[in-house]
Amino acid sequence: MIFSFTKTDRMYIAHCKEGGEWQSGVMQDFQNLSMSPAAGVLNYGQGLFEGMKAQRAADGSIVLFRPECNARRMQDGARRLGVPVVPEEMFLDAIHQTVSENSRWVPPMGKGALYVRPLLMGSGEVLGVAPAPEYTFVVYGAPVGPYFKGGLKPISLKISDEFHRAAPGGSGGVKAIGNYAPGMVPSREAKRLGFAEIIYLDAVHHRYVEEVGAANFFCVKDGVVSTPELTGTILPGVTRASVIEIARDMGHEVREEKVDVSYALSADECFCAGTAAVIASIGSIQHGDRAVEYCDGQVGPVTRRIHDTLTAIQQRRIPDERGWTVAVE
Ligand SMILES: *Cc1c(COP(=O)(O)O)cnc(C)c1O
Repeated sequence: MIFSFTKTDRMYIAHCKEGGEWQSGVMQDFQNLSMSPAAGVLNYGQGLFEGMKAQRAADGSIVLFRPECNARRMQDGARRLGVPVVPEEMFLDAIHQTVSENSRWVPPMGKGALYVRPLLMGSGEVLGVAPAPEYTFVVYGAPVGPYFKGGLKPISLKISDEFHRAAPGGSGGVKAIGNYAPGMVPSREAKRLGFAEIIYLDAVHHRYVEEVGAANFFCVKDGVVSTPELTGTILPGVTRASVIEIARDMGHEVREEKVDVSYALSADECFCAGTAAVIASIGSIQHGDRAVEYCDGQVGPVTRRIHDTLTAIQQRRIPDERGWTVAVE
């Protein structure tokens, strides 16, 4: 089982008119959506998604990881795209119901997760470029294995000198659906050349590391952990925020700063972090003619400790002192 789509039994759906309140959502059998060809999301990409995991914990329960962070991030995105905000309580209720009614799809502990995908979109008809008159909020799930084949086995990445993911003032800081299609061809091209993903540099100076496909970037040098600061072009990952706290607790200095590509290439270890990939160790990075290998292509010690601690918290194998995990009834 890899990171691919398998349909599950049930899904959540709710509707809202522009300027109105969200109607209470309902659970229904997994099914296709029906909407006008003039729907705002189909014509102008007025849509947002989220991604989270429900997994089996050591105590047998099914747990979510910091779902309120996803609720708030979707609210930030909704404000940016002129979409009615989904109240946090409604978002969390939708997640809980979707996981609960698809619980037979949650794999055993350590064997994957039920990936939960909230979608919020302009489903009403609109011809001119403007916010849609009606919105739909959907939550569905799919069982998944690891995002990158090979689990923690270090991946090879290529820095793009040609493409950018986001520019200042744009929508890179929110999970807007329109941010992702432009990365597909660059990513496919990198994969064709044998790389797992592409690293994007900033669109202004072409010099600072931004992200790894749809995951956040970290590097470690002399025990100091660095990650690109959130300037609006970088997606504020829940995994990223959690790694920062975990690394500080381990005694590392953690800097959110501009990470110059030459600094990243001179680091001792690099990894990327996201819900889908969890922590993926980076074995090598290619930039132009230059290729750098980290830790002889092995998983670095700091990367391993952070990975092991994060996954242990997520699966409740160690005490969850921060209350990050939430059980689904
Ligand atoms: C979703 C996403 C991430 C990771 O965020 P998490 O909350 O950790 O899953 C990082 N970068 C991009 C571009 C993303 O879309």
